[in-house]
Amino acid sequence: MPVPNPDGSIFSQLEAYGHKKVVYCSDPDTGLKAIIAIHDTTLGPAFGGTRMWAYKTEADALQDVLRLSKSMTYKAAITGLNLGGGKAVIIGDARKDKTEPLLRKFGRFIKNLNGEFITAEDVGTNPRDMEYIRMETQFVTGVPESIGGSGDPSPITALGVFMGIKACVKELYGNDNLTGKSIIVQGIGHVGENLVKLLRDENAKVYASDINEEGLGQIAKKYGAEAVSNSTIFDIDADIYAPCALGATINTQTIKKLKCSIIAGSANNQLEDEVVHGKMLLDKGILFAPDYVINAGGVINCYSELMGFSKKRTLQLTENIYEATRNVLKLSKSENISTIEAANKIAEKRIADIKKVKSSY
Ligand code: NAD
Repeated sequence: MPVPNPDGSIFSQLEAYGHKKVVYCSDPDTGLKAIIAIHDTTLGPAFGGTRMWAYKTEADALQDVLRLSKSMTYKAAITGLNLGGGKAVIIGDARKDKTEPLLRKFGRFIKNLNGEFITAEDVGTNPRDMEYIRMETQFVTGVPESIGGSGDPSPITALGVFMGIKACVKELYGNDNLTGKSIIVQGIGHVGENLVKLLRDENAKVYASDINEEGLGQIAKKYGAEAVSNSTIFDIDADIYAPCALGATINTQTIKKLKCSIIAGSANNQLEDEVVHGKMLLDKGILFAPDYVINAGGVINCYSELMGFSKKRTLQLTENIYEATRNVLKLSKSENISTIEAANKIAEKRIADIKKVKSSY
């Protein structure tokens, strides 16, 4: 997805990103200020989480929702789901400003879109918040398991990342066995902890890092991982780097330092600049598993909730991330393009192909 360079007007931004619709939601009674972005609905209703964040400016909020909704289109497409791409942002501090009326009002805005947008939790929101939204609209997933939802998607996301790591290892080493491979997992949160468990179950050597040192120590001990300081992770000579905390950790400075041969983790938007850093990794011979391909487990979990799929089917769909990653790596190799470019091509092809199906009788 090339980064657009719009002239600053809202319509030029929508055009640059290729958006179909953006809805501004305002309700002074509850303090709700939200933006819902619907990027593409060729494959199905626009799906994406609702993020609550204290954006410095409304322009920042718009930029974030446009960028994130576009990547949801690609994520759903490459995963083979019949979903389009969308996202919502609520402007505010989730710790202070989030209330039941605000969330329910937001739910009513979603209801008025008549199924064109379906949401789930994201940064600053949780399953309980989805429950409030559910009180106003059926077009929400990720509600707690106790009320029939799919609950926390993180274990499924971790499984998808694990499959993506294995696909990369297969490409480089000829088999996907992780025994003896060394992996740095950065960020031992909901996804990171589950990933550490899966890796240790297969006897990989795990270096774990997190800014929360107390939690890190406990988790490292629990799974037999080695806790390392976050400031030294790029000095470690490990086979694989799995970013599971923040985006943009792969940039010109870190690429120079990286000693690993594979990058595969759950964090969204890991490359600071998709084009520049995708190419730098290609040139340096580091295999990069595009984040939106291998962190799709969470979306698969929500899709299963929507479709009423069994847990078994959810796991099967998540395991398909192995093949999806293999296909991306193959295309990257055969066309000598970055893996992110290869992933984008595959996603865009599926959307174009299905568009033709839908336009023909
Ligand atoms: P989380 O908040 O539970 O965990 C993030 C962890 O990273 C925390 O333990 C935090 O202390 C740590 N952290 C924050 N800044 C750090 C830094 N600079 N260095 C090292 N550690 C740092 O989040 P999560 O749900 O585990 O998600 C992790 C990443 O994966 C996020 O980028 C998220 O957007 C992405 N993701 C998550 C899911 C999901 O199902 N949870 C799905 C897709 C993508």
